[in-house]
Amino acid sequence: MISVEEAMARVTAAFAPLPGEEVSLENALGRVLAEDVHATVSHPPADVSAMDGYAVRAGDVAETPASLTVVGEAPAGGCYEGEVAPGEAVRIFTGGTVPRGADAVVMQENTERDGATVTVKKSSDPGTHIRPQGQDFKSGDMGLAAGRRLGPHDIALAAAMNMSHLSVRRKPRIAVLSTGDELTPPGKTPGPDHIPGSNGPALVAFIESRGGEAVDLGIAPDDEGTLASLAAGAKGSDAFVTSGGVSVGDHDIVHNALGPCGLEVDFWGVAMRPGKPVMFGRLSDTPFFGFPGNPVSTLVCAVVFLGAAMDAMLGTAGRGSGEIPVRLACELKSNGKRQDFMRVRLSHDAEGNLTATPFPKQDSAMLSVLAEADGLLIRPPLAPAAKAGDLASVIALRPHLMAS
Ligand code: AMP
Ligand code: MG
Repeated sequence: MISVEEAMARVTAAFAPLPGEEVSLENALGRVLAEDVHATVSHPPADVSAMDGYAVRAGDVAETPASLTVVGEAPAGGCYEGEVAPGEAVRIFTGGTVPRGADAVVMQENTERDGATVTVKKSSDPGTHIRPQGQDFKSGDMGLAAGRRLGPHDIALAAAMNMSHLSVRRKPRIAVLSTGDELTPPGKTPGPDHIPGSNGPALVAFIESRGGEAVDLGIAPDDEGTLASLAAGAKGSDAFVTSGGVSVGDHDIVHNALGPCGLEVDFWGVAMRPGKPVMFGRLSDTPFFGFPGNPVSTLVCAVVFLGAAMDAMLGTAGRGSGEIPVRLACELKSNGKRQDFMRVRLSHDAEGNLTATPFPKQDSAMLSVLAEADGLLIRPPLAPAAKAGDLASVIALRPHLMAS
């Protein structure tokens, strides 16, 4: 049995970044940049007003009140073509280009207008309320780096940089097959000895939530021939994941079924809890994961191993481990040889520290607990007993809920 660390290293080494493809901005949310994004325009394109008011020569309003003649207008998207001469002002609006000759903007609230005359009641230093050309970014500046997963704010920046399309990593195509005679598709009436299969939908959702494209191959019975023929549907995928049938029981048939189809095992068994029987290797050309069937084991293996594989394929590997430091809310016993991934609830203590409270029930068949959990607390192998308040690491399962 190898360590989680060793298993992660072998998984990561088996995947390389996928090629890039062009997508339009509307389709870029959640995708990962394959190339750096450089601005093709400057923002703002010229010196522009940050206020509604009057563009003036600062020298003209050093002494106030000062009366100036309004000679024109500079709305956003327009400009005043002339030059502002001494004693003159131009009515300007937020985003309007500051006309030549003017070097300050007086906000409307500090003026009084009477026909073609504006009286400025407060002096303005040069540069006041002017956003200089290129203040945000200049043409050619790098705005977004390859490897970034695009959020709404990134799409905004790319649009402002005048990009209509972006080069993003192709979505990893990952085939998913559930195994087990006891499984029925969710929504069908299960027989007395049957349960609705949850690993298939869970893995599909995990893959899609991480920016992949899942190919659901359905449920295979515990029959080697049928399993092998359904597994053929994984050909051409970037990875293939099965759930169930990898522990050493009579019906743990994934290895036997896929052996004749070209399965080469890299590792089978990792010192972790849950997830110990996890298998990794290749099925012909396709990297293969055999996850244990217990629903929590499958999801923990997905978070740890499939997540690492997808990071490697998307080129996001090494951009933060996804682990966050927390304080323990209670004491924990010393750990054995297996790395533990404990389901925990996260909250803030009175001092504002993020603290983790393990659920009393850590059974790897309990999806109700996993669904309530905010994170997986990592207990390294042989970790000594820990006290309340000690530091620990958590893999956040709901990162968007973590903002305090
Ligand atoms: P296995 O790894 O095949 O021995 O399965 C271990 C446990 O997980 C058994 O109780 C199975 O019924 C359960 N299990 C396996 N696959 C699934 C699935 N897709 N959905 C829900 N439970 C499953
Ligand atoms: Mg099974």
